[in-house]
Amino acid sequence: MTNLPDSLLLQARALINQAVAEASAQGKPDIRALYFVTYPAEDITLEMIRAAIETMRQATPAGQAELHFAQRPGRYVCWNCCGLRYEASDGVCPNCGHEGLVIPLEMVVALEKIEV
Ligand SMILES: [Zn+2]
Repeated sequence: MTNLPDSLLLQARALINQAVAEASAQGKPDIRALYFVTYPAEDITLEMIRAAIETMRQATPAGQAELHFAQRPGRYVCWNCCGLRYEASDGVCPNCGHEGLVIPLEMVVALEKIEV
């Protein structure tokens, strides 16, 4: 096993449970595709998120689903100029061009929709 953080594995498990619950609420337990959105974090990569999802979906109705990930802009703060807070995909401050610090989010990945 890889050394994925427990918090990421718990998030992944919660998302799979959510997807399975949505599919069964629609009366179609087989999940064809899962669509996730991800947010940048300093210590979590997309590969780690994907690995956590892959781990937690084994032996679930989402086990064979296609996985789609869409990366969303992150929230940053720049301490180079004036403490400006902004959203960006590359982290560069729109005011001074310096690379800002990621403002940590509770969640790095969320379930957007499922296809059954
Ligand atoms: Zn700045």
